[in-house]
Amino acid sequence: MDIIYKILLDKINKLKKVVKHFVIGKSYLGKDIICFKLKGNSDNNIIVQGGMHAREYITSFLILEQIELMKEFNLCNNFYFIPVSNPDGVQIAMLGYNSVNDDLLKQLYSKFKLPYPLYKANAIGVDINTNFDAYWSCGKCNQFRPSSQNFVGYGPESESETQALVKITERLKPKVTLSYHSKGEVIYYGFYQKGKDLKRQKKYAKMLLSNYKLVSTKNSCGGYKDYNIKKYNNLSYTIEVGNNNWTHPIGMDKLKNIKEDNILTPLICDKF
Ligand SMILES: [Zn+2]
Repeated sequence: MDIIYKILLDKINKLKKVVKHFVIGKSYLGKDIICFKLKGNSDNNIIVQGGMHAREYITSFLILEQIELMKEFNLCNNFYFIPVSNPDGVQIAMLGYNSVNDDLLKQLYSKFKLPYPLYKANAIGVDINTNFDAYWSCGKCNQFRPSSQNFVGYGPESESETQALVKITERLKPKVTLSYHSKGEVIYYGFYQKGKDLKRQKKYAKMLLSNYKLVSTKNSCGGYKDYNIKKYNNLSYTIEVGNNNWTHPIGMDKLKNIKEDNILTPLICDKF
C-alpha cells in the first residue's frame, strides 16, 4: 500500500499548486486537514468531504478527481472539498499500525481486532463519523472504548478531526453537504425527520445519482450528515460508493467505475 499512499500525497500536492486551499485543523498526530476551495458566483457554500473512515480512502481519490474536473467550470456556489478528513487513519489503513511512531498507541493497536487495512478510526481509536453532536452515542453499532471502528469518543466532538469539520461548517453554514463513504451504492438521507422536511431531502437525493438506492437514516447517529441536518436543516447526504460485493478496502482498479457514477454529483448540487 506504500505506493498508493505516495500517489495520494502526490496528487494532493499537485492540486495544491493550482487550486486555492487552506488548513481547517490538525489531526491527532499533527497532520494538516486540507480544504480546497473553488469559488462560485454566489455567497452559497457547499461542502464535499471524504476519507473519514480510514479504509474508505478510495473516496479521497474520488474527491480529488472531482476537484480536477470542477475547477474548469463556472460555478454558482462556492465549493469546499475536504478529501482526507482523517489523515492519521488513512495512513494506518495504508501503511499499517507500525507506521505510527508512538509506543503507547502501538500498545493500543495490539488490542484491536481488525487487521490494519480494515481500520476505520482516527489515530486514537475514535470513529470520527460517530463523534458529532447529533444524538451522540445513541447508535445501534456504537462502541464505548477505543477500537478500530465504531468507538464514539470521549464526548461529542472530542476529536480534533471532528472539531475541524465543525469549525468550518459553522463558518460556512453550507446549504448542501456530501459525505463520501464506502460501500453499497446507497444514498442515506434525512435524520429523524418527518413530513415535508424528509420529503425535501428525498426529492434532492433522487437527483444526485439515478442508480444508487435511497435509504432514510435510521439506527445511526453522530455522523457529519446527521450533525448538519440537526443543526442547520440543510440538504446533507452520505453517499456510499462501490458495489457491496467488493471487499474493503476498495482497490484502485475500481476507481474508474466509482468515478463514472459519482464524478458529476457535486455539479448536480450546484443547481440545487
Ligand atoms: Zn464510512
